[in-house]
Amino acid sequence: MKGSYRIARVAGIDVKIHVTFLLLLAWFGWMYWQERGVSGAIEGVGFTLLLFLCVLLHEFGHAFAARAYGIRTPDITLLPIGGVARLERMPSKPAHELVVAIAGPAVNVVIAALLAFFLAFKVRATDFSDIDHVGGSLAAKLFYVNVMLVAFNAIPAFPMDGGRVLRALLAMRFSNVLATTIAARVGQTIAVGFAAASFLGAPMLLFIAIFVFLGA
Ligand SMILES: [Zn+2]
Repeated sequence: MKGSYRIARVAGIDVKIHVTFLLLLAWFGWMYWQERGVSGAIEGVGFTLLLFLCVLLHEFGHAFAARAYGIRTPDITLLPIGGVARLERMPSKPAHELVVAIAGPAVNVVIAALLAFFLAFKVRATDFSDIDHVGGSLAAKLFYVNVMLVAFNAIPAFPMDGGRVLRALLAMRFSNVLATTIAARVGQTIAVGFAAASFLGAPMLLFIAIFVFLGA
């Protein structure tokens, strides 16, 4: 992908960041700086980096599941809307595709469970409304982020994980072509819904809508 730079190599996989990801960091830094100066900015950028560490671990979940089926992942790229693990090819068996799709969100389930244990379930509702503000419990924010990653990927919008699960399940019953066609149509329909919702005050959804629509 143009404009992406390698920052690390883990288990034979290049970890890259896209230049727009740096803009996201700057945006969070700026937002938090306005609230609480330099220490706020450091906290904001730190939180964003931890958030994307969870996204990165999610992508490694896909990559390691694919590796179990002999499929290599040359690189993982972090974008402002999330991560993309570039698998050399998709698994040919629907059951394998299902496992690879679920492996990503499964990582976030594990992280959320560990954080919930750490928090001893003492999460207050207000911790979640603090998500884009300085202060509050960092662990609670990260717990929320991981739960959202799982919930969001459960939406069957191909090529998002939920859509890949849908496609794999359809491919167990129908031909590959029909399964992909149905999953893509469902994905595009949901993308239109995302686009509509983005105008109701969630501008990031518009980028995801475009990504899902074009991908589908
Ligand atoms: Zn995923």
